[in-house]
Amino acid sequence: MIQSAKKELLRIGTLLYQRQYIVASEGNLSCRIDSKNILITRSGVCKGELTPDDLIKISLEKRASTGKQRPSTEMRMHLEVYRQRPEVNAVIHAHPPYAISLSLAGISLEKPYTPESVLLLGAVPTAAYGRPSTSQVAESIQEYLKRTDIILLERHGSLTVGKTLPEAFNKLEVLENTAKIVWLARQSGIIKPLPLKEAKELFALRREVYGLEYPVIPFD
Ligand SMILES: [Zn+2]
Repeated sequence: MIQSAKKELLRIGTLLYQRQYIVASEGNLSCRIDSKNILITRSGVCKGELTPDDLIKISLEKRASTGKQRPSTEMRMHLEVYRQRPEVNAVIHAHPPYAISLSLAGISLEKPYTPESVLLLGAVPTAAYGRPSTSQVAESIQEYLKRTDIILLERHGSLTVGKTLPEAFNKLEVLENTAKIVWLARQSGIIKPLPLKEAKELFALRREVYGLEYPVIPFD
C-alpha cells in the first residue's frame, strides 16, 4: 500500500508541475496510507522532481511526523480535510494561475458557466484570504469542506480532494480549465453565465445520469 501510494504521489506531483498548476517548490499533496496515517510532500521541494524520500509519514492522531524532515507548511489544511471527511483519501493544494487570476479580479466561480463546470465543480466557493502556511488557511476552508470537494483560496490557490489522487487532480484540472475559459471570455466582452434554470436542471442529473457522487455546492 505504502509503495503504491508513494508511486502515485510522485506521478501526480510530476503532472501538477508539468501542467503548471504549481511552479518552483509551490503546492503540496497527500494521501491516506491507512486509517491512522497519511503521506505528505515535504517542505521546499519541487513536486516535478519528487523522490520517495520527499514523502513524509504523518500520524493523523499526533498531527506530527516522526522523522527529521519538515512536512509541507500547509499540513494543517490537509489534516483539516482528513479530520472532517473520513471518506476522502487524497488532497491536492495547487496555485493554478487562471483560477487565482479570477479571485484577484473578483470574478466568482460560484456561477454556472459550462456544462462541465456545472456537473463536475458545482458552485465553487472562494475561501477568504488567509496567510499562507498559517492556521488561517485551515480555518478559512472549514465551513466549506463538508459541502464540496473543490475550494478556491482567495489570492492563493486551490484545494481539491477525492477518494483517489487522480480524482483530486481531475477536479483541479477542470477548475483551472473553467477559470481559463472564463478569463478568455472576459477578454472578449461580458461573460454570460448559463441560465440558472438550465444549470439547476443539469445539476440535478449529476448523480443519476453522470454517476457523480462527490459533494459540490448547488447553484441558487
Ligand atoms: Zn499555497
